[in-house]
This record gives sequence, structure tokens and C-alpha cells, in this order.
Amino acid sequence: METFDYVIIGSGSAGSVLANRLSEDAGTTVCVLEAGPRDWHPYIHLPAGFIKTFHMKSINWAYQQEPGPYTGGRSIYAPRGKTLGGSSSINGHIYNRGQRQDFNTWAQMGNRGWGYADILPYFKRMERRVGEGEDTFRGRDGNLTVTTMDWKDPLCEAFMEGAVSLGIPKNPDYNGAIQEGVSYCQRTIEKGLRMSAAKAFLHPARKRPNVHVRTHAHATNIIFEGKRAVGVRYLKGGRGGTPVEVRAGKEVILCGGTYNSPQLLQLSGVGSPELLKSHGIEVRHALSGVGEGLQDHYAPRSVARVKNIRTINELRQGWHLWVEALKWATTRRGLLSLSPTMVYCFWHSGETTESSDLQLTFTPASYKEGVQGQLEDEPGMTVASWQQRPESRGYVRIRSADPFAAPIIQTNYLTAELDRRVVVAGMKLARRLLKSAPLAPYYAYEDFPGEKVQSDEELLGAATERGTTTFHPGCTCRMGPADSGWAVVDDQLRVHGLQNLRVVDASIMPRMISANLNASTMMIAEKASDMIRGKTPMEAVKLAS
Ligand SMILES: Cc1cc2nc3c(=O)[nH]c(=O)nc-3n(C[C@H](O)[C@H](O)[C@H](O)COP(=O)(O)OP(=O)(O)OC[C@H]3O[C@@H](n4cnc5c(N)ncnc54)[C@H](O)[C@@H]3O)c2cc1C
Repeated sequence: METFDYVIIGSGSAGSVLANRLSEDAGTTVCVLEAGPRDWHPYIHLPAGFIKTFHMKSINWAYQQEPGPYTGGRSIYAPRGKTLGGSSSINGHIYNRGQRQDFNTWAQMGNRGWGYADILPYFKRMERRVGEGEDTFRGRDGNLTVTTMDWKDPLCEAFMEGAVSLGIPKNPDYNGAIQEGVSYCQRTIEKGLRMSAAKAFLHPARKRPNVHVRTHAHATNIIFEGKRAVGVRYLKGGRGGTPVEVRAGKEVILCGGTYNSPQLLQLSGVGSPELLKSHGIEVRHALSGVGEGLQDHYAPRSVARVKNIRTINELRQGWHLWVEALKWATTRRGLLSLSPTMVYCFWHSGETTESSDLQLTFTPASYKEGVQGQLEDEPGMTVASWQQRPESRGYVRIRSADPFAAPIIQTNYLTAELDRRVVVAGMKLARRLLKSAPLAPYYAYEDFPGEKVQSDEELLGAATERGTTTFHPGCTCRMGPADSGWAVVDDQLRVHGLQNLRVVDASIMPRMISANLNASTMMIAEKASDMIRGKTPMEAVKLAS
């Protein structure tokens, strides 16, 4: 049986960063197991290809969530990347770190070394920021290129002026001193191509002889000797494939993401004894927090019909698309280099809110049923709005002992009263933004939720009927103290009560942050790599309060 120092399960945002950092030590061997294929498909690399990869089952787990109390009986689609780079290979390329208080809250929950000043050096270390940004906050020579949207659009400009007219200031860098304000998005795009975690971290590492990446390697369980993780069993080729075992001389590191990491722990006998026994799985280690605490951002997408100008809906049709394809081929710019959203706006739902609790995005396009899958034919523009720090929590639980069965995903969106209130406030702000004076020359009428929808109750009803995930699930293997009753890993990301096993991915977030999750997931892996290598943590940044 082959033995490596580290066996990493999952080559996504976190797994790619870890594979790179751990293999910097030439004497260390690293094996990465990835259930999906190589990231060769052109749609992964073409930024606008997200609209295709969104449903592409060969590189996407394409999960369905359970209907929740506030989803109007709907089962909401939950895409997840299943290829090198994981979800960073199919995501919307937006780069957004979150707010200081997000990470200070993590520290207050009992996690030493995770306050904002402590984690900021890791955000800086991994990025190569091209564009606006103060050196206190931004890195300039890391692996991950971060650029600003280079598409200047009259509708986007008018939206931003509209925000300013409502008292929302422009912010040159929402990843800098403060997040609040409006601006074009920052993106993980370089020269018109996606900068996935695989491209930034894994592929450079693969050139080293001590890195071994296995694709089509679906991990089915972690192998233990007593309480010590000693290896991983996987099926080469997926379901019905050849069983293979690899040994980890030092550690097994689980980077399967928010849905699959708790699933694999449960399949391996780590979790709530009642759940495991109900599926006939022997309890290796009782840990009731595994899979519990799931959080995500829930967004209704307000749509207005547009007049007097072309939107992306028309630009991707007929001969326009050929022009855009030529433009991308020759300049790497234009429609095919775009992200699903173009402008970001952070604001607060009420006067007493200490920092912004609403995130709004603007796109000069509209999607069928409001979800990023298929563009509509008639001109449209969309403002998605969501509560940044929801309180509702759900869970991920195995459906059966079959490692190929999709887990049960119940996010319980909007079950907390605060969440309902803030989401309604977001829809009201979205309406004011779309109706602002600078957008008036282009605004035809409100399509969703529609003028008939006015009271808070009606707005909540509309959110229930058509809100969707923003694809930011986290918090199913939460980091926290052993005696908390909910934590799965400690602040070194070691699984409580077990040896040689860590979880490093978006699932360890103890609480949802005010951001999309790719940037912070990679930061988590950057920081974890120093812990695993026994290095002194980077010095905290000195910040003016
Ligand atoms: C459609 C979409 C749009 C998004 N847009 C944005 C955005 O614009 N900006 C942003 O910041 N975030 C965005 N996100 C979220 C962000 O990409 C994720 O939060 C982040 O990539 C999660 O990283 P991770 O390492 O936790 O998991 P992942 O990147 O999902 O990696 C998990 C990896 O583990 C592999 N794996 C799982 N189980 C097994 C197994 N049993 N055996 C072997 N391998 C396994 C998976 O195939 C996958 O490659 C988006 C996500 C999606 C899906």
C-alpha cells in the first residue's frame, strides 16, 4: 500500500492551497484525491462559461436541497464543483473577503488566532491584487490574481449613481478598510480567464515531484486505527470502480467542502450516534456537531424590464454573440469575460445596524426564474439582495450508508425572525435602487416581485416563492471549543477527540461571514498550512481601531 505524509481529500479551493503549501517542503509527500476529472473543459476557463458549468453533471455534484419551511415547497438546486479546483472552477469569480467583525466574532466564539488582525496577513499572502488597494490590506505578489471588473456599462454606471443618490458612497476597495459602499466587483480573473484555486495553487504544485494528484478518486471512508486516522479508502473510477487504499504517515486532511466533508465523516463513523446507527454505520467516534449548523445566504432577485438600451440578454443572441466571441478571442475582453454580477453594494437594513448587513448585486441582465442558469430573451436588469449574517441554521446528514448517495441538505432558510426582517428590507432597498433617478431613462417596469407586492408580508411571500441560494454554504464542521457541544474541530482545525485528522474548508466556519466564501476558504487553508507545518503564525497586522 502506498504511503504519503499527507493525504488531502478534495482538490477544491482549500485543497488546492494546502497541496501547494505543504509540498513546498521538498522532503514531504502529498497525495490529493479528487472525485471529479481534470479541469480541462474550456467552459471552466472562459469566465462566461459559468452559465454552462452551472448544470454540467460531469464536473458538478448538482445537489438538490430539501424543501424548507420558507421555500414555498421548492427544492432549491445546489451546484458544487467536482473537478480540480472544486467550486472555484465553476463559481462566479467574485472576490470578497468579508468584514472585520466576521472574524473577530470567530475569535470571540473561542477560536484563538482567528481575529481579523490575525487572519489578514494570510489574505495578503495569497493574493496578487491588481488595482486599487492600500498596502495595509492588500497583497501584491501572491499566487491568486485579483482584478477589478473591466466592463464599463451605462446601466452599471447609472446603478452606482443611483446608489450614491440614496446616500450610499462609492468605495474604491470593499476588501480594504471598510466594506460598506458601492463599486464594480473584484474578480479572480486574469487576462480574460478564470483564476481558479487549481490554476493559482494546484497546477504550479503539480510540477513538484512530491505532489501526487489522483482524479476520478472518490473517497468512501477514512481508515482509523483506534482514534487515529491512518489513511483513506477510495474507488478509482467512481461507483463500481477499483477499491484502493492510501496511507497517511502524518495526517489525513479533509477538504471535501461543506456538503461532502460532514458526509464523509459520517460515512466513516464520526458523528451523531443516532444518525449513524439508523444507517447501520458503526460508531467510531461520537461527535454530535458533525453536519449540524449549516448556513447560507438566501437571495430574492428583483428584476426590472429595461428600455432604451441593450442588456446582456440581447447581446448574447444571434450575430452579437459572434462579435463578442471575436472580441474575446482577440482582446480577452467583452461579454465572454464577464461574471454573473458586475456591481456590488453593501449597506445596512436599519439605522441601528452597526455595519452593513445587506449585500446587493447588480447585473444588466435577467435570468429565467431569477436563477443563474438561463438568460431571458427580453431586456432586463437584476438586483439580488441578501442578508449578510443570517441566523437560521440547518444541517447535512447522510441519506444512507451508500457513499454515492447525495446527502440530505436542509438549510432552513429564513426560519429565524431576524432573517425574514432583513431579507424584506433588502428587497425594499433593491426596489429603491432600481427606481432611482439615474436609472429612470432605462427603467420600464418592475417584473419581480411586481408593483402589486407592497406590504412586508407580500414581500416575504415573494421571497419565499422565488428566493434562491447564493451558493455560499458553510458551517457544517464548525471550529470551536471541545466543550461547546457544537464544535467539530478545534482552532488548529483538528477533529475533536481524534488524532491525525483535520478538516480544512468552508465547513469549519463557525458562523456565516458577510461575503461570498471563496476568498475566506482559501485564507483558511493558507493559515492551516502554517499550523500543519508547525510554523509560527504570521504576525498580526497592527490596525487603527
Ligand atoms: C455556482 C457557484 C457560484 C459561486 N460563486 C462564488 C463567487 O462568485 N465568489 C465566491 O467567493 N464564492 C463563490 N462560490 C462559493 C465558493 O466557490 C465556495 O464557497 C468555495 O469554493 C468552497 O471551497 P471548499 O474548498 O470548501 O470546497 P470545494 O471548492 O467545493 O472543494 C471540495 C472538493 O472536494 C471534492 N470532493 C468532495 N467529496 C469528495 C470525495 N468523497 N472524494 C474525493 N473528492 C471529493 C469535490 O469534488 C471538490 O473538488 C460559488 C459556488 C458555486 C457552486
